[in-house]
Amino acid sequence: MNLNFVAGKTFETIDPRTGETIARVSEGDKEDIDLAVGAARRAFDHGPWPRLPGAARAKIMHKFADLIDQHIEELATLDTLNAGKLFSWGKAVDIPSVANTLRYFAGAADKIHGQVLKMSRELHAYTLLEPIGVVGLIIPWNFPSTMFFVKVSPALAAGCTMVVKPAEQTPLSALFYAHLAKEAGIPDGVINVVSGYGPTAGAALTSHMNVDKVSFTGSTEVGRKVMQAAAASNLKTVSLELGGKSPLLIFDDADIDQAADLALLGVMHNKGEVCVAGSRVLVQEAIYDEFVKTLVEKAKEWVVGDPFHPNSRVGPQVDKKQYEKVMSYIEHGKREGATLLTGGKPAAKKGYYIEPTVFTDVTDDMMIVKDEIFGPVMVLMKFKTIEEGIKYANNTKYGLASGIVTKSLDIANTVSRSIKAGVVWINCYHGFDIDCPFGGYKMSGFGKDFGMEALHKYLQTKAVVTPIYNSPWL
Ligand code: NAD
Repeated sequence: MNLNFVAGKTFETIDPRTGETIARVSEGDKEDIDLAVGAARRAFDHGPWPRLPGAARAKIMHKFADLIDQHIEELATLDTLNAGKLFSWGKAVDIPSVANTLRYFAGAADKIHGQVLKMSRELHAYTLLEPIGVVGLIIPWNFPSTMFFVKVSPALAAGCTMVVKPAEQTPLSALFYAHLAKEAGIPDGVINVVSGYGPTAGAALTSHMNVDKVSFTGSTEVGRKVMQAAAASNLKTVSLELGGKSPLLIFDDADIDQAADLALLGVMHNKGEVCVAGSRVLVQEAIYDEFVKTLVEKAKEWVVGDPFHPNSRVGPQVDKKQYEKVMSYIEHGKREGATLLTGGKPAAKKGYYIEPTVFTDVTDDMMIVKDEIFGPVMVLMKFKTIEEGIKYANNTKYGLASGIVTKSLDIANTVSRSIKAGVVWINCYHGFDIDCPFGGYKMSGFGKDFGMEALHKYLQTKAVVTPIYNSPWL
């Protein structure tokens, strides 16, 4: 719940369609994190949640999921108002998916068990999978609901208690989820949501001596700080889902229409505010010129407008800061000598709208090629051979996602094994499923969200060893 925090401070949360204030939200600080961690600690050490049979935890998680289903419209509205996300997408995809994420991990809650180990004739051992304890969950603003549940759901199933710090830009749906959790019967102290800023509330969570693990999703720069804080405090374990500059490789044999659609979907979806955005599009030379013509034509289909309007495909950037950051990258690209193929301008007088933007004639050393822009900006490059395509694709500090468009199984197999990224989409993009592990290579982080690997982030293994006397067999 959104408590009255200790210092009584509040901060504004805005509507990116207009820049106007929607509400003032309590601003949690170090002392509030301390109180929340204390509540989570008590709930973990003495409360029922970690001690309930898995099936009982699952039952409450299912109720939580059902309550989300009953509030799809309100929740999708909050994420549209607060983050500028498409309402139609939230209603049809994001919010129903988070309910299913809860159900997926609820299904695992009663299947958590260790192994029986065969040791020597004299020793018998087995392992227990125990909840890791109090976890700090720090999430970004681009998918406020999805990010909340990819972390909260496996942590709940594992029997952990938690403090969630939503992004300061998008606290509203997280506060609603805290309310629904209570209604579902999640005991007090299990889910504690503290709205507040990163350098204060977030940092207090990462350095807290009573937090056993931090699961963080956000930028690579802040991910580094999270690791440093964990190292400098109690050596809590950390998992990091960080940024990306993902390549989409389009080969000569591709269907150009389909490839152009995928390239635009890859980077324009959610107005480019997607960690896996296919922001570097690499096209093989024989089809390059025709691809460019098709792409520019199709870019017009990405209509910028009010995210509540059913025809809009690109809503506003999340806030002024993000809008200015994206516009300054666009200006940089122009100054550095890249050719602007389309877009590049603000798309409205009011609000934080930016036209879908495509640059070409870029070089490896340009900022628009190296940095994660996190907006509707694509850079387009040409390559000759498969080897050259792979080399360009891997020429980044990031390794979150990638895509390939080809009809050749040989190319698909070779390239998918050569790209250093946590996911390779072949002839598709943004192909997510809660059962499919997701997470980065290289400076895109480590530790998977989604899939059963995510559950194991919130568990730790204990070995129990006992002597056996006079065993008749080994
Ligand atoms: P950010 O790193 O600025 O903030 C993320 C979260 O960390 C926020 O809740 C913020 O308040 C908090 N934070 C900031 N400073 C902190 C500190 N010193 N200590 C602890 N917490 C702190 O990122 P953002 O701008 O909110 O999100 C965009 C970034 O997130 C992009 O780089 C994007 O690629 C990444 N992202 C990654 C994934 C993934 O799964 N890999 C998913 C979504 C977003």
